[in-house]
Amino acid sequence: MNKSKFLAEVLHKSGGTRGLDLLWGANRLTVLGYHRIIDWHAPDFRDYEPVVSASPELFEREMAYVGENFNVIDLDALQAYLFENKSLPERPMLITFDDGYLDNYQNAFPVLKKYGFPAVIFLVTSRMENPTRLWWDECGYCFRFTEKTSAMLPLIGEQELSTPEERKRAREQLMRQLKLIPEEAKQEAMQQMREALDIESDSECLFMSWDQVRELVANGVSCQPHTINHPIMTRISLEEQKRQLAESRARLRDETGLKADAFAFPNGSPADYSAETLQALRDTGYTTAFTLSPGPIPSEEARRYPLQIRRVYLGHKDTFEIFAVKVMGLEAILERTPYLQG
Ligand SMILES: [Zn+2]
Repeated sequence: MNKSKFLAEVLHKSGGTRGLDLLWGANRLTVLGYHRIIDWHAPDFRDYEPVVSASPELFEREMAYVGENFNVIDLDALQAYLFENKSLPERPMLITFDDGYLDNYQNAFPVLKKYGFPAVIFLVTSRMENPTRLWWDECGYCFRFTEKTSAMLPLIGEQELSTPEERKRAREQLMRQLKLIPEEAKQEAMQQMREALDIESDSECLFMSWDQVRELVANGVSCQPHTINHPIMTRISLEEQKRQLAESRARLRDETGLKADAFAFPNGSPADYSAETLQALRDTGYTTAFTLSPGPIPSEEARRYPLQIRRVYLGHKDTFEIFAVKVMGLEAILERTPYLQG
């Protein structure tokens, strides 16, 4: 067991999560930031495992914990608090998912229905009828199935690829570089990667259809824009940022009839959006936006900065105990206490 899993277990079992709850108080807003809900250890999993947030079994256990400790609200209730001076229940929680993977519909939706929880899914709007992998899943697929034992890769040069560990190390190194370059250069580097690894990703539809999206919307799951094709906003021109924001919003409105004025930043770290992006959001009619800087936050902070609401990011290695301490705000406390930052 690694150190953070061990510490989380000790903290949770010794009542530390209760202490965190008291420390934060009831007037905090907790927004969960999920991606995929699927078992990435399963033999038929072929994509990029770090984008998985929980297995279906773990997700069910997490929702039970949420039901015992929080009051789940929907996006309308949050926006009524932000913009119409309405109040929130104690310990309000909003449950969100990014990207719009099919497993949200297949594995998360039945659990949400069982508990009667509303949620928000942020959709990459070009994916609903495009049965190809997004770039990170394509990296996941190509490095998983390449038969090369070494390759000259774009951006990172010659790499050994004989073992799963070497392939994973090379994949992560390449992906770190891919995130730093402009979108057009990224597409070019992806093509060079496919050639170097001598593999093409097959076409498998990993995302929901518009019919499934409409079914979710009819059952309390709001669907909101997450751009057309998931560029990092600071790696594209202002004009392209506005196009991504306006066209994904218009598409969502046409397909679902929702007002579609809430947004989640692709990648979501402070480096992935700028003051220019925030202005572009306002100019294209968005009122609310979510980052992946660690939450929760005092609810008042969301009123002051409704375009930068923090969330609790959930990762593929998180155990139930790590979930519990994250949701109770340990990461957010460490991040806000400057002398504790390494
Ligand atoms: Zn995303």
